[in-house]
Amino acid sequence: MVKIPHRLYLSEDEMPKQWYNMRADMKELPAPMINPATMQPATEEDIYPVFCEKLAHQELDNETRYVDIPEEVLEMYKIYRPSPLIRAFNLEKTLDTPAKIYYKFEGNNTSGSHKLNSAIAQAYYAKDQGLKGLTTETGAGQWGTALAEACSYFGLPLTVFMVKVSYQQKPFRKAVMQTFDADVIASPSNTTEIGRKILAENPNTSGSLGCAISEAVEKAVSTEGYRYVLGSVLNQVLLHQSIIGLESKIAMEKLDEYPDIVIGCAGGGSNLGGLIAPFMQDKLTGKANPRIVAVEPASCPSFTRGKYAYDFCDTGKITPMAKMYTLGSGFIPSANHAGGLRYHGMSPILSKLYHDKYMEAVAVEQSKVFEAAVLFAKKETILPAPESAHAIRTAIDEALKCKESGERKTILFGLTGTGYFDMTAYESYHDGKMNDYIPTDEELQKGFDSLPEIPVK
Ligand SMILES: *Cc1c(COP(=O)(O)O)cnc(C)c1O
Repeated sequence: MVKIPHRLYLSEDEMPKQWYNMRADMKELPAPMINPATMQPATEEDIYPVFCEKLAHQELDNETRYVDIPEEVLEMYKIYRPSPLIRAFNLEKTLDTPAKIYYKFEGNNTSGSHKLNSAIAQAYYAKDQGLKGLTTETGAGQWGTALAEACSYFGLPLTVFMVKVSYQQKPFRKAVMQTFDADVIASPSNTTEIGRKILAENPNTSGSLGCAISEAVEKAVSTEGYRYVLGSVLNQVLLHQSIIGLESKIAMEKLDEYPDIVIGCAGGGSNLGGLIAPFMQDKLTGKANPRIVAVEPASCPSFTRGKYAYDFCDTGKITPMAKMYTLGSGFIPSANHAGGLRYHGMSPILSKLYHDKYMEAVAVEQSKVFEAAVLFAKKETILPAPESAHAIRTAIDEALKCKESGERKTILFGLTGTGYFDMTAYESYHDGKMNDYIPTDEELQKGFDSLPEIPVK
């Protein structure tokens, strides 16, 4: 019998050399992106002004099952990957559960999250196409940091529009991005037309991801040789993040394990889509049937209270429209602390899988999430990002259900990052000042009212 180690690192040679594209195995595909100018499905050429060519191809490619990871991308991956698969022995003992809890830890890099996995790919393809620079948005700051690291590695200039509330709450994030030469601007800003318009309507707004996306897209399309890149939601991002799940599956196989339940937090769905990819493949092809659970904040409940409808990916309504679970691009969530989960929509791929009942979703309240984060930090000695703590909360709840039923389930969850830039959030939890704001139906309706009218086909 193999003695189960606390952490399993694959060797560099065992690291996957290809990403996996779930769409190739889906029985029914996600609805196509729509070009708002023509109201027709977007073509690759339609999206070239926004995305670089190889990424536009990946975005629309529903057929290629495995995509080679470019050598240059693998070289940078090897600086911080493979990431460890860890057995939470001490947490299990504390919970007194028969369940086995594993987690895949993606916080072992300076950006502190899984976002670097896609940032590297996107910066590489942009450089390869000879572009002059990139723009992006960042909410909690992890994506901006990840992209700044990747752009600096490949020598590409970068402008980051950072959601104003995060810019104010996390000044050191800005300093990290500047370390990697990024130009960081608080959004909404007066550097773009859409930013000026939003500020005129609502001067005290704390900003939103959708609004920062609009500014970044405007800056990209109005600057020669620039493109916009996005760190979540898109099909290409889920593709790049499949490295998380592929590594997890190989590591679990080495331990002779297979998860009964796979759990991940869901903002735009990229880490979850990546973590579940090979397990969803087993489900789609009938090889296995693990439960797959998305965890979202009760304050921004895209899956559990959203509508499955075409919507813009940004508040400025510049990007193509995608059919997804959404709260409406006009929805501005309350300023909760899981900044990375405050997006109005959800990956179109995951939305389709959820709609077709291949996965479940739960919404959890903020103070319960922090209770789980603090317990996890004490028992496993990693201070989790608030986003990641959503998955911890649900993993603990599932392990406690096993305690009741006596079942020895194997749980795998994604620990997407560390929380060192989120100490204001931890502080408000410790001081008992955290509130669990849950939007009313009337508030959600305002967001739904912003959904675009799509002619019925
Ligand atoms: C951005 C972020 C998330 C949420 O984004 P997804 O695209 O849903 O994965 C989760 N955890 C961390 C640490 C993040 O930075």
